[in-house]
Parts: sequence; structure tokens; C-alpha cells
Amino acid sequence: MLRQVAEGVLIHESEFCQSNAIVVQGWAGVLLIDPGVHGDEMACLANDLSDSGQTVVAGFSTHPHWDHLLWHAGLGAAPRYGTARCAATAEDRLSGGVDAVAKAAGIPEQVPLDLLGLITGLPAGTAQIPWDGPQVRILEHQAHAPGHAALLIEERGVLVAGDMLSDVLIPMLDLNVTADPIEDYLAALGLLEGVADDVDVVIPGHGSIGGADQVHARIDQDRAYVHALGDAHVLSDPRVGPSAKDGWDWVAGVHERQLQRLAQRSERDGTPG
Ligand SMILES: [Zn+2]
Repeated sequence: MLRQVAEGVLIHESEFCQSNAIVVQGWAGVLLIDPGVHGDEMACLANDLSDSGQTVVAGFSTHPHWDHLLWHAGLGAAPRYGTARCAATAEDRLSGGVDAVAKAAGIPEQVPLDLLGLITGLPAGTAQIPWDGPQVRILEHQAHAPGHAALLIEERGVLVAGDMLSDVLIPMLDLNVTADPIEDYLAALGLLEGVADDVDVVIPGHGSIGGADQVHARIDQDRAYVHALGDAHVLSDPRVGPSAKDGWDWVAGVHERQLQRLAQRSERDGTPG
């Protein structure tokens, strides 16, 4: 079921990790960002759209993780975009075949994989999604995954945050490729902070929609987490430990793994912290 969160902006929430698919109404159809996860949910979304006479004219994936790269035949054959780095990373990871990725990532069987990752990279530095609707500014940064992009729909006061600024997920750093994942993540939060005053609604890839009061609060909370991780400080974060929301206790395990990986990196590089 679609729920309006701002003028001309609707979301469809998945049972999988409270994932948010985002529909932006344009002049002759809709833009669909991170379409969803389970096959029946995307089919439901496709039905909701066609019942209200709306066609999907463009798609966008915020980053190259499988749960943001899906599609359903019922959504039609619109061009699907991502940043150039996002598309290149998706292509690279899928080059060994979808089944290998599904196995390695433990993708649930309700997820249809036939259209996974078929996105077109927008040329590096592209400022806006090319489509016929309200301007959607691309805020690319290096955090969480290569080519990760948040999207600012300025006319609607909406920030689509990708897998950042969640009330349930801690910042999950990209520990594979970047030189300094802590610095990269802090820079990305700085980029989002730069537009935060224009934002009334923040939509995370997973978790609850936040109002204007939540934008700076979530940036501050994520920054505190990343600082604590970098300095190996004792952590107090409501998303980790007994205060985590129902069903999200596994986030504490993610936190532990990030601590371990960072310790291994600094041992390997010979750098402190
Ligand atoms: Zn995700």
C-alpha cells in the first residue's frame, strides 16, 4: 500500500528490513527509487500504480546492494539509473552470475532475481536524475557502498537518504574499498548536513520516515556513532543493545563486526585507531 509522505512523494514499505520504496510523481508518470524487495510486494506496488493510472517512467537505485537493485516485470521497462560507480559495481559483482550473489548474500527466496541490477550508470558528476518531473538532485558520496547517492527533491522538501540516517540501522561503513571509511562517512554526513535545512521529510532506505526535527538529530546520531567507532569509545546508541527496536537486535552483531574489521585494518595498515 502506498502512503503519501510529502506532496507528490509516496512510499511503499517492505516487510524485509522495513525497506522503503519511493514513488515521486512527475509530469507524465512516476520515478521509482529502490523499488522494493519481495516479489509480491513489488507486484502490489505495480498494481497500486496502474490502478491509479500511473506509469513508471524512470527508476533509480541509491546504491549497489542487492536489496536496492531489484525490479519487477509489472513495473514496466523504464530506464533504471544509478551513479556510474553504482552501476559499475553492480555489474562487477553480478559478473559471476546472479545465483552466486544470491547464495553469498543469503537473499531470501521471495526475492525475484531475474531483473536484479540491470541499471544504467549516469555519467560521473550528473547533478540531476534525467526525467520529466520535479528536480531530483543527486548527492553522491563515498559511504556505505561505492557510488552511494542520496537524493534531494528540493521542491518537495524531501531527502531520500539511501542507507544512511536510519532510526534502526547504525551507519554501516564500506570497509572493502575506501582508503579511510571513517573519514569518508563523516564527509558524507557533512554533505547531507549541508542540505538539511531545506529538508522537511527524510526517507531512509530502512526504517521510519523522519520529520524536519529528525534531520539534524539523525545526522548528529550517525556522526556520534561513527566517531565512537573510529575512536573505539564506549558506545551508547539507541540502535544497539537492549533499546533496539523489536526485530533489530541483529544490529548489535553488525556493530561488533565493524569494530573487528576496523581493528584488523589498523593492524594491517599500522595506523592507530
Ligand atoms: Zn539496504
